[in-house]
Amino acid sequence: MLGSRSDYASVRSRFAWNVPTHFNIGVDVCDKWADDPDRLALMHRRRDGTRRDYTFSQIKRLSNRFANVMRRHGIRRGDRVGILLPQSPETAIAHVATYKMGGIAVPLFTLFGVDALEYRLGNCAAKALVTNKEGAAKIAEIRDLLPALEYVYVIDGAPDGCFDFKALSSEASDEFEPVNTRADEPALIIYTSGTTGQPKGALHAHRVLLGHLPGVEMSHDFFPEEGDVMWTPADWAWIGGLLDVLLPAWHHGVPVVAHRFEKFTPEDAFRLMAEYGVRNTFLPPTALKMMRAAGDEMAQRFNFKLRSIASGGETLGAELLDWGRRVFDVTINEFYGQTECNMVVSSCQSIMDPKPGVMGRPVPGHDVAVIDLGGKVLEPGEMGRIAVRAPDPVMFLEYWRNPEATRDKFVGEWLLTGDMGCIDQDGYIRFVGRDDDVISSAGYRIGPGEIEDCLIAHPAVRMAGVIGKPDEQRGQIVKAFVVLADGFAQSPALESEIKDFVKTRLAAHEYPREIAFLDQLPMTTTGKVVRRALRDIA
Ligand code: ATP
Ligand code: MG
Repeated sequence: MLGSRSDYASVRSRFAWNVPTHFNIGVDVCDKWADDPDRLALMHRRRDGTRRDYTFSQIKRLSNRFANVMRRHGIRRGDRVGILLPQSPETAIAHVATYKMGGIAVPLFTLFGVDALEYRLGNCAAKALVTNKEGAAKIAEIRDLLPALEYVYVIDGAPDGCFDFKALSSEASDEFEPVNTRADEPALIIYTSGTTGQPKGALHAHRVLLGHLPGVEMSHDFFPEEGDVMWTPADWAWIGGLLDVLLPAWHHGVPVVAHRFEKFTPEDAFRLMAEYGVRNTFLPPTALKMMRAAGDEMAQRFNFKLRSIASGGETLGAELLDWGRRVFDVTINEFYGQTECNMVVSSCQSIMDPKPGVMGRPVPGHDVAVIDLGGKVLEPGEMGRIAVRAPDPVMFLEYWRNPEATRDKFVGEWLLTGDMGCIDQDGYIRFVGRDDDVISSAGYRIGPGEIEDCLIAHPAVRMAGVIGKPDEQRGQIVKAFVVLADGFAQSPALESEIKDFVKTRLAAHEYPREIAFLDQLPMTTTGKVVRRALRDIA
């Protein structure tokens, strides 16, 4: 889509969308490649460490079988199909089958408890669910509360009231005529992370995949190249795993590594990337911070073939950028987006100089600006609201059955991201913070990300979360919550050392006047710092 490598301005000026009237994600990511019987789609590292590979032609037949099962059960175009599974072949098969059938896939994270599942499955009135025994046990507890849920397909057995995914699939035909969906027809509901409140179901059309392609290509330095292999520890239940990794890789016919980490550890992640020859990875900042905390020596034990690392979802920061260059010899490309409108800003080391602490520039095809609340585009350097101009193929259709929230998301033709930032003369966009997280202290507006980035540069600090604490004199003061690195203990001396560290490196008005030490930070299941929880305990 981006064409050949040249400078950013030329790549941007020659870009044009090509969204056909009809488009189906399932056909595009799978059936398109299935004529070549050997083309590798998935390398599955199973729980016991053994590996099983799948070709596109196998995924096509398996998804056709499951699509026939669902159709026979009366699941129709537009019906919602929940998918509650970790990274695994069946997850991908359920997605492809649902799209080809014209259904709406609703990915759900396996760590969700019963309340989170009840909220999401109830909200979208899912008619079917694909899960495993663990998931089925949770569903059994809330099944009475989910009247719309008629079919629960279980991939590793068939507990009471459920259907056996594998047995039914094996009896079904492997021929299936995919529904000829329109590009703007609903395909997917993804719930937001719930960092700022109750998660919202973002309804996306089939075209959302095409909308992601330039961002994926940019954040992975002109993806794909011959020999690329993609992997992410982020679960495919989130937009970052599904639409930044699995589906775009398959759109390009690039194999993906699938593995479920019971618990993410840097060592397992390094080993997996080395063993499977991963060349392209999306590593969220939290994963990078954990890897960095494990020490350079650990990374150096492994032999990597990494060509591109993309990171986003939270501020990357200069510290992690430096670290990535040192241990992987790769410049991490930061990107920015949100569940409703993803990958609209990115860095790309081969066509622009990275500026530490800055997210990148608008991805070709997306019109991103900093505006005021009235919808006026601000001058370079002015802080305001980061917004994306509609229409845009990557933009969500609506919040599922929530017209009011959908209306509030826009001012005129601009989608409001809910984030604050500023843009410089060259179009680089700096993220300041979410609307609610920006700290207002003695007349200054301060973003928490920059201070957190500075804090983790201190050797004693493993993780940091920064918020504004109400203060009579200053309005708010900067307060930092810090998780110490191994081998450090909290003390008044260390506290003032950390304060001085920020004061001298950043600015006197930005140093945390208060520091509290925690064993861990409150995080969403996607690994984002929940600053509102920190505000509650400040
Ligand atoms: P909710 O909308 O339910 O409160 P959420 O906004 O965290 O949750 P997501 O859609 O997963 O849900 O996250 C998108 C948000 O993540 C963005 O709006 C922005 O605040 C943040 N974000 C994404 N990329 C970056 C980045 N590169 N730097 C800083 N923040 C980022
Ligand atoms: Mg959000």
